[in-house]
Formats: sequence, C-alpha cells, structure tokens
Amino acid sequence: MDKIKEYIEKYDTIIIHGHVRPDGDCIGSQYGLYYLIKENYPNKKVYITGESSDYVAFIGRPELVSEELFKGALSICVDCATAERLSDKRYNLAEEYIKIDHHIPVEDYGAYQYVDTKAPACAQIIAELYLKNKDKWVLTKEAATALYVGILTDTSRFKFETVTSQTFKVAAELVDKGVDLGYLDNQLSVETLENLKLRGYVLSNFKITENGFAYITLTREEIERFGVSDEDAAAQVSTISSIGFCPVWAILLEYSKEEIRIRLRSRGPIINKLAEEYEGGGHAKASGAKLRNWSLLAEFVNKADKLVKEYKESLN
Ligand code: AMP
Repeated sequence: MDKIKEYIEKYDTIIIHGHVRPDGDCIGSQYGLYYLIKENYPNKKVYITGESSDYVAFIGRPELVSEELFKGALSICVDCATAERLSDKRYNLAEEYIKIDHHIPVEDYGAYQYVDTKAPACAQIIAELYLKNKDKWVLTKEAATALYVGILTDTSRFKFETVTSQTFKVAAELVDKGVDLGYLDNQLSVETLENLKLRGYVLSNFKITENGFAYITLTREEIERFGVSDEDAAAQVSTISSIGFCPVWAILLEYSKEEIRIRLRSRGPIINKLAEEYEGGGHAKASGAKLRNWSLLAEFVNKADKLVKEYKESLN
C-alpha cells in the first residue's frame, strides 16, 4: 500500500486502465481511484482510459485517452490479471506501469504488482488504500459511491463467500461518506423488457449434462433478435445459477465468428483451471474463457461435466 502511494506521488500524470468489457468492479475501481487521487493531489493530471459499460455508466464512461498523455506518465492497471485483457494496452508507453488486482495471477506485468486474491473486489483494495491514508486523505461521496458499486456488483450484493467482515467494515466506511443506497439499487435493479424476455428464453432453453453442468448458448443472431446489448446478454449467466443439481453453470455468447465468450460460475468445484485451458482465467468460482468456434463446444461441455462428476464423487 505504501508503495502504491509512493508511485502516485512520484508522477504528475497518472492514467488508470481497466479491462475489456468492464464490469462494475472495474469501472468502480477506475473511478474510485481517479477521484481519490484528484481530490488529494489536485495538481496531478489524472485520466481514465479504456472501455465503458452501460450497466454502470452512471458512474462514468471511460474513453481512450490520447497517446501523447503517456509520455512520462504512470499507468495504473486495475482489476485485470493479464496485460492481454487490458482494454487500452498502451500502458507500456508510460514511464512505468503498476497493477492493482484481486484475481488469481496468471501473468506478471508491471514494475510493481499489488494483488490480494482474498479481496472480493478490486474496489475493496482501493478503499483500503484510502483507509491506510485516512489521516491525510479525504474520500468524496463520488469516490465512495464508485468504490461501493465495485464491491456491491462483484460480490453480487454481498452474497458471495469471498465477502468477509473486512468487506463490511470497508463498506461501512464508504456508506459513512454519503453513498445513497436507494439510488444505487434503482440504478442496478431496473431492467428493460427485452432483457426480461431474454431471461424467459434462457430459462426455457438451457441444457443440463448428465452429471449436472448447466449451460446456455446464445448465437449472434439470437442476441440481436432479442435486441439486447452483449453486456446484458452476458448478465444472464445468473439466470441459471440456482439449480441445486448443477454446482457449475455457464453462458456461452457468440461475440463474433471467432470469439465465443464463456462466463463460467461455480458454487463448489474450482473452475479457473478449466477456464485456463480455453484462453481464460479468473477466480476459483467465477471465471471467463473463450472458444474459437462452436465445434469446440462439445469438448468444453464434456470437460465441465467431468469436473462436476469428480466434485460430486469427492463429496461422497
Ligand atoms: P466474467 O465472466 O467476465 O465476469 O469473468 C469472471 C472472472 O474471470 C472475472 O474476474 C474476470 O476478470 C476473469 N476473466 C474473464 N475472462 C477472462 C480471460 N479471458 N482471461 C483471464 N481472466 C478472465
């Protein structure tokens, strides 16, 4: 934590990077860190670069910053285990770059890496950075809101077993800064009719393998037919999360002919090793991966089914 502060203090220009298809934790961490630095070091130039997310656009919408800004700057990459997943890969144009993350590390990148895999959200780490410097730094309501959204979304509203008493302590500090919980619930809970119809489709069409792996596939044509964004389609992974017989489940989305994105989830078996076999990674119980075409689907489904089988056998 002291080291992160040293890096922040060393540079006049700081650029904050996130990952492709950012989620609430990525955007929350980027904006939380941005506001934290801006408020406490008003003379520094701070930028957020990368992609935006409709779901949490109320926090802010990053765009790619111009190239000349990187000269002599520090890039801070948040919530991203591998350099390849960063939405703006120009971090190496910066004078130095560091990483702050909570994913299981699959690759080393950055002059300095602060990785806490016990933190349920990267935003919790950024909030802890503030707490460590609480006597000198202030945290605005804007910063607290961004960080709270990061924690709220990555824990599925404090539901996951990765949540600890520390998460609640951090959240309490953020709430004390004025986070409006009713406003956030409105922002995050309301959905479109198109989304609701897609959920109905997912509920009627998912498949279950012999041993209990549940999955739903959505082709490009299906996503477009429902008129939903890729992000909203991807969020449907939670629709099949509650089947008792199925401790592992996934949604497979055809983003393009060459990229079928897998969102893999578990409430038992460790799944990130399986994800790593398919150009992916992530957490022990929430991972992402990729298929290069649909012909690989059967093999992937068989491996996931085997994983569930072995898990169930290990319980007996
Ligand atoms: P997602 O399904 O996108 O929510 O991803 C679940 C977790 O796995 C997140 O923490 C991601 O950062 C991580 N993840 C997703 N896709 C990949 C990938 N291709 N490589 C490494 N990690 C990934």
